[in-house]
Amino acid sequence: MAARGERTVPFLDLRITDGAVRSELLEAIEAVFRHGRFILGPEVEALEQKVAAYCGRRVAVGVGSGTDALLLALKGLGIGPGDEVITTALSWIATANAIAVAGATPVFADIGDDLNIDPSRAADLITPRTKAIVPVHYTGKVCDMAQLMRLADEHGLDVIEDAAQAFGAMRDGRRAGSFGRAACFSMNPMKVFGACGEAGIVVTDDEALHRRLLALRYNGMVDKDECGEPGLNGRIDTLQAAILLRRLPDAERIIERRRYLAERYSDRLAGVVETPRQAAEEYDVFYTYTIRTERRDELSAFLESKGIEAKVRDRYLMPEQPAYRDTARGSYPNARRLVGRLLSLPLHEKMTEADVDYVAESVQTFFGDSG
Ligand SMILES: *Cc1c(COP(=O)(O)O)cnc(C)c1O
Repeated sequence: MAARGERTVPFLDLRITDGAVRSELLEAIEAVFRHGRFILGPEVEALEQKVAAYCGRRVAVGVGSGTDALLLALKGLGIGPGDEVITTALSWIATANAIAVAGATPVFADIGDDLNIDPSRAADLITPRTKAIVPVHYTGKVCDMAQLMRLADEHGLDVIEDAAQAFGAMRDGRRAGSFGRAACFSMNPMKVFGACGEAGIVVTDDEALHRRLLALRYNGMVDKDECGEPGLNGRIDTLQAAILLRRLPDAERIIERRRYLAERYSDRLAGVVETPRQAAEEYDVFYTYTIRTERRDELSAFLESKGIEAKVRDRYLMPEQPAYRDTARGSYPNARRLVGRLLSLPLHEKMTEADVDYVAESVQTFFGDSG
C-alpha cells in the first residue's frame, strides 16, 4: 500500500521478528526434526489435550484448517443431503461452504446489532428438515448461546459453534467452544491464536463424535486397516501443531493486549463513529475491531492516504455471493442494512499505543474535516 503519511499502520503484522519468540518457535520445529514423527505424533496429542482443556471440553481433534473443522464436524454428526442447517448471513464464506460441501442446505438467519446471529430470527427458519444451527462468534464476540442452546434443545437440533474468530472469548464466564455439541476453530495465521500456516481444531465432549472425527480426518480409517466411510485427508500438520503448542501459553497475553488496544480505540472514537459494544457478561477478543459508518468506503480511502490499512472483511453477505444468491434461503434485512457500513481498523498485539492514537486521530480528522 502507498505510504504517504507520517506513519504506516498495517492491518496485521504476521512477521516473526522478536528474537526470543523466533528461537522458541525454531526450537519447537527442531524438536520435531529430531524425533521425526512428521504426521500426528506427540505435539498433536499435546495440543489437542491443551486446547480441549482451555475450552473446558473433554477432547479435541486437530485438522487441516478451520474449514476442515466445520466440514468434519458436520459430517461427524451425520449432517448431509436433505438436511437444512441454519447459520448467520454474515460470516466468512467458509461457514456456508462447509454446510454446502457436506451436502446440506445452508439457511441464512438475520443478525442482531452485535453482528451475530439473532436467535429469534433463527427460530423463524426452523422446518422439519432443520438438523443443526451453526452460530458464528463474529469479530471475536460470543453469540447469545443461552438463547441458541435453548432453541436447539426445544427442537432437537445440534449446535456447532464456528469459533474461528473467537479463541479465548467468553460470555457469562464460559469460553467460546464450550457451548455446542461441537465447536470449530481455525488457527490460520490471521486468527487470534494462529500457526505459521494452515491449522484447525474441533472440540467436543461427545465420545462417539470424537471417534468418528478421528476416522474422518484420515480417509475414514477406523483403525490401521479398515475404512468405515469415505473421507479425505484433513489432519493437522505436525510442525504447525508444534508451533501452536509453543504459542498457547502466550495466547492470554495477546488477547489482553488486543482488548486493551480495542478499549483505547473505543475511548478515542466514542461519538465519532459507532464503535463495538461489549456488555458486562462479554469478554471479546477482537479478531477484528469493526466500526460502523455510512461513509465506510470514503473513510477507508482516506485512511489509506494516511498509510493506514483498514479492511472490509466480508464485503458481501454469504447468501449474496454468486455461489449462493440464486438459491439462498432465509431472511436478513438487518444484515443487509449493516454489511455496507462495516470497516475493520488495524488491530494486532504488536501495535503501539501511538499507532492506535494515530489511526483514531485520522478517523477524527476525516469526520471533522469533511463531515
Ligand atoms: C477463518 C474462518 C474460517 C475458516 O478457517 P480456515 O482455517 O481459513 O479454513 C471459518 N469461519 C470463520 C468465521 C472464519 O473467520
